[in-house]
Amino acid sequence: MKRNCWEFNHCGRELGGEKSKNLGVCDSVTFTAFNGTNCGFNSGRYCWSVSGSLKDGPKTCVHNPPLEDCTQCDFYLFVKREENVDFIN
Ligand code: SF4
Repeated sequence: MKRNCWEFNHCGRELGGEKSKNLGVCDSVTFTAFNGTNCGFNSGRYCWSVSGSLKDGPKTCVHNPPLEDCTQCDFYLFVKREENVDFIN
């Protein structure tokens, strides 16, 4: 399996992560509908549509909060590069 957002950003909100008790486990970790999307675990490589700026409602990702647009995020660009023509936006 390829790197998921919590492994790239070290947010600590994965299952058992150091910030998961205070901030809760992130939806991108637990939301199963996108499991395998962009070769990630659950929504770990599709976080921009589950926790980020491409979802409806407020962004819940704690990584780089001032960044309003996930399409400028290092992780988004990293996944886009890795998946290339198979990238799912
Ligand atoms: S979407 Fe953000 S807060 Fe959620 S697991 Fe990924 S990096 Fe962490």
